[in-house]
Amino acid sequence: MPRRWNCRGPRPASSSQPSREREREMEARSPHRSAETLTQPEVLAGPETLDPPDWSFVAALAHRIVDDAVDHVGRVRERPVWRPMPETVDALFRAPVPDRPTPVEDVYRLVKDAVLAYPMGNIHPRFWSWYMGSGNFTGALGDFLAAIQGSNLGGGSHAAALVDQQVVGWLRDMIGFPETASGTLVSGGSVANLIGLTVARNVKAGLDLREEGVAALNQPLRVYASDQVHSCHRKAVETLGLGNRALRRIRTDSRYRIDVAALRAAIGEDRTAGMRPACVIGTAGTVNSGAVDDLSALAEIAVEEDLWFHVDGCIGALISIAPQNAWRVKGIERADSVALDPHKWLHAPFEVGCALVRDRTKHRETFAVSPEFLQGMPRGIASGQWLHEFGFQTSRGFGALKVWMALMEHGVAKFGRLIDQNIAQAALLANLVRSHPPLELIAEPEINIVCFRYVPEGLSEERLKEINVEIMLRLQETGVAALSDTTIRGKHCLRAAICNHRTRPEDLTLLISEVLHLGREVSQT
Ligand SMILES: *Cc1c(COP(=O)(O)O)cnc(C)c1O
Repeated sequence: MPRRWNCRGPRPASSSQPSREREREMEARSPHRSAETLTQPEVLAGPETLDPPDWSFVAALAHRIVDDAVDHVGRVRERPVWRPMPETVDALFRAPVPDRPTPVEDVYRLVKDAVLAYPMGNIHPRFWSWYMGSGNFTGALGDFLAAIQGSNLGGGSHAAALVDQQVVGWLRDMIGFPETASGTLVSGGSVANLIGLTVARNVKAGLDLREEGVAALNQPLRVYASDQVHSCHRKAVETLGLGNRALRRIRTDSRYRIDVAALRAAIGEDRTAGMRPACVIGTAGTVNSGAVDDLSALAEIAVEEDLWFHVDGCIGALISIAPQNAWRVKGIERADSVALDPHKWLHAPFEVGCALVRDRTKHRETFAVSPEFLQGMPRGIASGQWLHEFGFQTSRGFGALKVWMALMEHGVAKFGRLIDQNIAQAALLANLVRSHPPLELIAEPEINIVCFRYVPEGLSEERLKEINVEIMLRLQETGVAALSDTTIRGKHCLRAAICNHRTRPEDLTLLISEVLHLGREVSQT
């Protein structure tokens, strides 16, 4: 694209005019001004900036945006969970990068009409697909304010870094990790798990893996997890250069928990075959059915077998703050590393995950590098801790603020009660399923995930899958509710994961009556 000059419109009059003129005068006197820049008409017209010429106009727009946002969240129950997008919206987001400016109020209008109007739906009280939190308004304000302050969490001496470390400390305390443990906030559970597994790999490699690389391993490393393990662990072992085969999936018991005897047998088998068992992953809340592995038993095995004990607690680590259900995740406090997800059961707006590592030195030794351009200083901005030494990212956003503000506002006890509430709601939904044939419960809910299906008599598994998929899609398309589906031990089913502080019991009774209604409708066609 050719460079064009003078393509800006006339400068609007503004109150900042006199000081801008003074600024320009000073700039003109500056000895650093080169002759070349002086000849550029753009520079002569005054330096450009992204700041608005008129802040009072921006203030009015920002107030309108906040009013609309309050309305958007406050009235979410009145809208469909989801709706398909018209072609005009689709086309809008295929347009090429704009060359010309658009007034910001028009930009906002597009966002309001074409973006806010077509959400995924997860802040809605009847969204129970996959697994995600339902957001909170204070958290959204936190994200806005974090962006306004604009700090980079690569590290340094500033308040955002203190908030970040305080939130890590709070999460550490919530799961009962020692004060000496370290942690880092990341984009989500996938990266949090990757961080835990990277430390595990390096610590258990038996050589200087950072220097030598995986090619130097004389024995292949083995990582163990249940056959219900989240798909991000496959990505992690692949990314870590260990290969998918390094992740041994161990069969699960009748409640979909890792079979501890089978795990012991597999470890023995691998040692005999010349492999190097390195890590066992316990899952606190599987995605399929919410199963919680026996974490205390895994902690024992890890000690006996000299394995790193990592817990994928993206769903369930925070159950440790729920008074009625904390017992389910006992043993998590014995892990070497834990991945958890504040954007799930703490309902922080996306994104924020957290990796915690019991041994701060091992954590830091896995990632720390001190390039010449990032040296610490005794005073000034660089006198704080370099937080990038605890993960992959150098620059990192201030995701801590949204978590911090919501925890300050409500207190941790309320988040614990909300977790108990969702678990009780899943039990209620399971009871409704049981009492409404031809619905069938596929897995007894352990925590907040209910797997069930519509099963009219005498149909093949294949036909049942067709019917249930159709029920799921019509629920989404009518905007009544959002479920997802899965297959557990060969049985396809609908799946409701109630990680939602807006869900009420009547939402669950509505779901049951809609599924029954759609089931009749679909199975007759
Ligand atoms: C959600 C989830 C993940 C992945 O976390 P993201 O935040 O989506 O990256 C990993 N493991 C389990 C058990 C999960 O539920």
